[in-house]
Amino acid sequence: RFLSLEGGEGAGKSTQARALAEALAARGVHAVITREPGGSAGAEAIRTLLMEGEATRWSAHSEALLFAAARADHVEKVIRPAIGAGHWVICDRFIDSTRAYQGVAGGLDDAAILALHAFGSRGLLPDRTFLLALPPEVGAARAATRDGAAADRFAARGEDFHVAVTNAFDRFAAHEPARFRRVDATRPPEDVTAAILSELADWLP
Ligand code: C5P
Repeated sequence: RFLSLEGGEGAGKSTQARALAEALAARGVHAVITREPGGSAGAEAIRTLLMEGEATRWSAHSEALLFAAARADHVEKVIRPAIGAGHWVICDRFIDSTRAYQGVAGGLDDAAILALHAFGSRGLLPDRTFLLALPPEVGAARAATRDGAAADRFAARGEDFHVAVTNAFDRFAAHEPARFRRVDATRPPEDVTAAILSELADWLP
């Protein structure tokens, strides 16, 4: 099974990825945790290109191409081999982040982003995508406590951008109910993990 966790900054995606992998391990399911941008050696090199330098270094177009290239490498080198070996994969962000950040918030056409994904990664989609839903102001307060390139990037983009990202994720979840599960991420982390697990009950041994 291939799962992705999506949501804005500060939603707790990486915490949930770890907690979920532990909970799955306790049920005898081995899950590989990975993340985007990055997740493979080539994609991590592209992540450095994306995160270093001025926040305005790349246009939304060039960013979308870099994300598609990073994802192609990540899918080919890590995600498909893990699924092929019978493992579960938990990915911290995937195609829906590009659709929300570079697409809706960055002004690019969703169909163009999906076309790049079709070319780069043969259109691979997660079996289930958990949207860790958080009001943008709560995410902003949590993100402000982080440091490094991601925090700088967050601050450089402004409030409207992050509101657009939040709304985009909500819309995707509403339009694709078969793939998405929306989870309230304002709750304590263990409650969020329990909510995710309950949505996976059918697939668990
Ligand atoms: O929160 P996380 O560490 O996953 O995000 C890393 C950075 O990459 C954040 O600043 C996020 O806004 C950015 N990002 C992006 N476009 C994507 C995925 C992540 O700008 N498609």
